[in-house]
Amino acid sequence: ATFGNLSARLTDTFKNLRAKGKLSASDIDSTVREIRRALLEADVALDVVKDFTGKVRDRALGDEVSEALNPAQQVVQIVNEELVSILGGEQRRLEFAKNPPTIIMLAGLQGAGKTTLAGKLAKWLKGQGHTPLLVACDLQRPNAVTQLSVVAEQAGVAVFAPEPGNGVGDPVKVAKNGVAEAKAKHHDFVIVDTAGRLGVDAEMMKQAADIRKAVNPDEVLFVIDAMIGQDAVATAKAFQEGVDFTGVVLTKLDGDARGGAALSIRSVTGRPILFASTGEGLGDFEPFHPDRMASRILDLGDILTLIEQAQGAFDEDEARKVAEKIAKDAFTLDDFLGQMQQMRKAGSIKKMMGMLPGMGKMKEQLDNFDEREIVHTEAIIQSMTKAERENPKMLNGSRRLRIAKGSGMTVTDVNQLVQRFEQAAKMMKTVARGGMPQIPGMGPM
Ligand code: GDP
Repeated sequence: ATFGNLSARLTDTFKNLRAKGKLSASDIDSTVREIRRALLEADVALDVVKDFTGKVRDRALGDEVSEALNPAQQVVQIVNEELVSILGGEQRRLEFAKNPPTIIMLAGLQGAGKTTLAGKLAKWLKGQGHTPLLVACDLQRPNAVTQLSVVAEQAGVAVFAPEPGNGVGDPVKVAKNGVAEAKAKHHDFVIVDTAGRLGVDAEMMKQAADIRKAVNPDEVLFVIDAMIGQDAVATAKAFQEGVDFTGVVLTKLDGDARGGAALSIRSVTGRPILFASTGEGLGDFEPFHPDRMASRILDLGDILTLIEQAQGAFDEDEARKVAEKIAKDAFTLDDFLGQMQQMRKAGSIKKMMGMLPGMGKMKEQLDNFDEREIVHTEAIIQSMTKAERENPKMLNGSRRLRIAKGSGMTVTDVNQLVQRFEQAAKMMKTVARGGMPQIPGMGPM
């Protein structure tokens, strides 16, 4: 996944540090050098890397580390804080217009994911009780109008588009008419999809700038494919000069990109990242949280997003019951199975697992993770007696053998399941108590 290598490199760097008690200036220098190398390899822009490592170095050589009880952890803390800072610090939310409709314009290269994003945003807004209207101003790319209509239908929102076939219309006029339609029909959001080219070109830029002038959007979101690596910086600068934008959306963060764009763009443009896109489906989308992204990169685990997504799928009663059980240490295998089933509803299990602490290390296992495994888990748990599910401690060798036979699985499968259950129970207890998850091999933060 994005940041996989960077995470692994940083975690290794910190592990080496941990072996030491007090840190000398040369320990810190070599750590900073490794961080620098890791960031450059992840395609982070050179200026950003220099600035970042400079700050980390200065702070790491200062009092907060030399006086810390655990200097290594303090260094990780500093890296974490500086990462949050280059990702934008505080979360920046969407600006709402004082007088609706709020107008959001999307700009970016062709293929960046604008049209898909229009659908994602619309679905997300609709989920919050808004009534967005999608406006199709990409009259350049064949099919773009049809594609936006399809996406609108999937999201269950209205679309304003010129008749298909009439592809040569005037995008500025379409944008204006779209906004007028939204006002007439009382939509509280308008999302304007614009044309992109494969590369930056003057005509496209002018068209986008003209649309911007014509409809005066509350937000202009620059949509950028995280996979384009080093080119991201130049593209972003070109769009900033040509159209300017109020915020950034990173797409394709689910890919194997090295992620440098994500880390560079805020510093290079001074514009906040508002959203992240993580797949082709309309649900693969989330508001961007700098602190959560930083912990994901540092492999601290994105517990908060995980919990939020799980909550979206849980019914609240169920969630409260589970929380009570966890607190009372009465979490059973039945609850575990119930949670897995709920999580499957919340999204792909693989994606959820990727957010768990320490999972960055288990990339390979993750890639091999088979969603059918939930079926096996069900089979195993259903072969247990009620007493066994409530008290897995009683699962001795002969019981495990019986369960394996009953479910058509092996004893090893049963053992692994029990082990996973125990880990999950432990982790949830830590989180339930407000604790931080642990960095593998580093002890509690
Ligand atoms: P546009 O030209 O900017 O409107 O881009 P599209 O919305 O047509 O997207 C281009 C391609 O990228 C399509 O095949 C999308 O399904 C795909 N895509 C968009 N966003 C994402 C994402 O976050 N992850 C992945 N993997 N694919 C995406």
